Amino acid sequence: MTHLDQHRSLQDRYAASLMNTFGPPKLVLTHGDGARVWDENGKAYLDLLGGIAVNALGHGHPALVHAVTAQLGTLGHVSNFFATQPQVELAEWLLALLGAGPGKVFFANSGAEANEAAFKLTRRTGRTHLVATEGAFHGRTMGALALTHKEAYRTPFEPLPGEVTFVPYGDSEALAAAVTDRTAAVVLEPVQGEAGVVVPPAGYLAAARRTTREHGALLWLDEIQTGIGRTGAWFAHRNPAVDPTAAHDPVVPDVVTVAKGLGGGIPIGACVALGAAGDLLGPGNHGTTFGGNPVATAAGLAVLRTIHADGLLDHASRVGARLRAGLAADPRVSEVRGAGLLIGLDLVEPRSAEVTEAALAAGFIINNPTPERIRLAPPLVLTETDADAFLRAWPSLLDAAGLAQQHPQQDTTIGGPA
Ligand SMILES: *Cc1c(COP(=O)(O)O)cnc(C)c1O
Repeated sequence: MTHLDQHRSLQDRYAASLMNTFGPPKLVLTHGDGARVWDENGKAYLDLLGGIAVNALGHGHPALVHAVTAQLGTLGHVSNFFATQPQVELAEWLLALLGAGPGKVFFANSGAEANEAAFKLTRRTGRTHLVATEGAFHGRTMGALALTHKEAYRTPFEPLPGEVTFVPYGDSEALAAAVTDRTAAVVLEPVQGEAGVVVPPAGYLAAARRTTREHGALLWLDEIQTGIGRTGAWFAHRNPAVDPTAAHDPVVPDVVTVAKGLGGGIPIGACVALGAAGDLLGPGNHGTTFGGNPVATAAGLAVLRTIHADGLLDHASRVGARLRAGLAADPRVSEVRGAGLLIGLDLVEPRSAEVTEAALAAGFIINNPTPERIRLAPPLVLTETDADAFLRAWPSLLDAAGLAQQHPQQDTTIGGPA
């Protein structure tokens, strides 16, 4: 081996040793605590992205640390030739939280893998046509990519597993027109995450349920980003704050996929199939070495138990409402969307990259999924004090990003803090 690269920066070593799939990393991070992380220079950041909606309990939560270390010290991995208690308990918890009767769970290691399981499950209907939506993101494996809309992600990898029709998101009539008796499934995000937190019109999922039922197709909801408390309810499709019709007439899907927040940072995904759909994948139809691993499922249980015991659904609803109101108060924000702690907003000018950059410089991690849109998906444990610190900084971040004041005569921020 040549000299270990002690003298080169970790950023340079990263560039020399990791595939350039993500572009240069913005920072080197060394540790975290709650909703905060620190970089290699000791600078602290309020983490309002949570590892892309993953760190539901924040960083270093004692319940998660204890669950993972205790399980690893007891039994770390066994393969799916064997069963373990955390695996079975987590499956039971997910089915109970869905509140839609019996079903079956397949555990995977990521969101894309949960969706691959669901994709294969739909093929067992004997049909191959799928309907997905414009703006949808379902992951980067070949199957999940076939359902992901963005051309830049798809084109270099075609041909993708086929027969997918894309329809405009939120348009029930377009969906009804695309579904036929040959359609295996319709796949929808209850709120589109990567598109910048796009909430469909009320009754959209219910209409999709009617359409799929009429044609004997499955309704598959991708809750990988929206599930596990992210919107202030266990699942967005049952959250009246996302769709008021869910209060009296919640949609019962055939398949729900989850991942991101479920492990609180430990990689895990799950494909949950309800009712008869739970029996579509049989022996030999699918498999995984790691999926349902005791450490990952113990992590999932710790996340669910902590959200439940600490009242984090209500907390996320409350802190999220406060954030949305505060963000909307600046006239350079034209729209704020979302529920709980999944928040998207539109800027009046396409300067979201500059705003994200200014936020980082000021010690806040946020995300810019499109040139006009900002997304926040902080830990569900984010405090009101931390939310307020970000709201106080917000106008100055828009200033620093070069967003013109909308009402200069009313401006009070130029010339320094009041
Ligand atoms: C992140 C995401 C995925 C993919 O999950 P990975 O763990 O990155 O494979 C799929 N669907 C949705 C809605 C997501 O937000």
